[in-house]
Amino acid sequence: MNDLDFYAPRRCLREPIPEIWVAADRLLSAAEAHGAGDRAAAERLIKEADDYAIAAWTDSLWGAWSADIHRIRVVEGAPPARARAHRPLPRMPTLQTQQDVIRRDGLFCRFCGIPVVDPKTRARIRRLYPDALRWSRIAREQHAAFQAMWLQFDHVLPNSRGGESVCDNIVITCAPCNYGRMEHLLEEVGLADPRTTARSVAWANAARWDGLEGFAR
Ligand SMILES: [Zn+2]
Repeated sequence: MNDLDFYAPRRCLREPIPEIWVAADRLLSAAEAHGAGDRAAAERLIKEADDYAIAAWTDSLWGAWSADIHRIRVVEGAPPARARAHRPLPRMPTLQTQQDVIRRDGLFCRFCGIPVVDPKTRARIRRLYPDALRWSRIAREQHAAFQAMWLQFDHVLPNSRGGESVCDNIVITCAPCNYGRMEHLLEEVGLADPRTTARSVAWANAARWDGLEGFAR
């Protein structure tokens, strides 16, 4: 690969690994089993979706920066990071904006295309299956699939660089895509603008994905 390819715009920092789609299939099956009253099967499927390979993929994105994945470059004239007191408020989009963005984007990462789960839904499932859906504030103690699929409201122009929490500047992303980019502009990591690129979700069960919201009802 020459430098031009290396620095050409790409849709995400790192493509999802096949294990993520397998885990998403298992979580759909777990939701079905739960709905059918088969708690043992739901428990087993949630545990099987907790795949170390997914945790390693996540860590490669939001752990230490690597030249290979993050490809950080200097962009002339880029807005500098602002001190906290000079960033637009509110930092988190309002509930109304969150709902509007979900309606527009659906429950898939606008960069890498993996399905995402709202933290409130995750918490409800955890109350039902506390042993299978392990979670804590410590990253390595979080269920690998739910960690990767953690719904984020990501500022395209980062809030720290002057980006506002409005629909036009917010996209739904997975946690690795959000925390992997952190406070960088799209141009600084060579990402195509997700608001203008065609969506592609390469997953046979995409049409069935409801963010697991039916799971805990
Ligand atoms: Zn993503």
